[in-house]
Amino acid sequence: MNERITGGCRCGTIRYDLMLDRLPPVYCCHCRDCQTWTGSAFSQQAVVHEGDLVVNVGEPVEYAFTSPSGSLSRQYACATCHTRLYNTNSARPGLVIVRAGTLDASDRLEAVLHIWTKRKQPWIAFAADVPAFPESAPAEVFRNLVMGEQR
Ligand SMILES: [Zn+2]
Ligand SMILES: [Zn+2]
Repeated sequence: MNERITGGCRCGTIRYDLMLDRLPPVYCCHCRDCQTWTGSAFSQQAVVHEGDLVVNVGEPVEYAFTSPSGSLSRQYACATCHTRLYNTNSARPGLVIVRAGTLDASDRLEAVLHIWTKRKQPWIAFAADVPAFPESAPAEVFRNLVMGEQR
């Protein structure tokens, strides 16, 4: 039997399922925006198809902004505890980027890629076999590593 992949916000107002057979691979972004937004050293994110994310408890609030590149980013968060849960981007239609630290099994996530490492905290060391890029990763590398196990 497959594991149910579940997650939610800090206070429990929002709960979601990922309709996947197992935990998705995650990439870590060490950019300044991710550090600011998470209040942490880096963000952990999983990319899933829109239909594979099902919010079954609560309704996230939306914060949308236009990025410097012109794409529209829609961020979804809990209105009560303000945990940011996932986002979409008009540059990547049909996909949802999940803040993987909100998964219940976040202690078992596997990081398959590091990006924006030129901004990483100096005390972070990467596993030698995990690809790392000073800025964003080439689209094909990103697709193969992060989305390789999905349809
Ligand atoms: Zn909450
Ligand atoms: Zn980032």
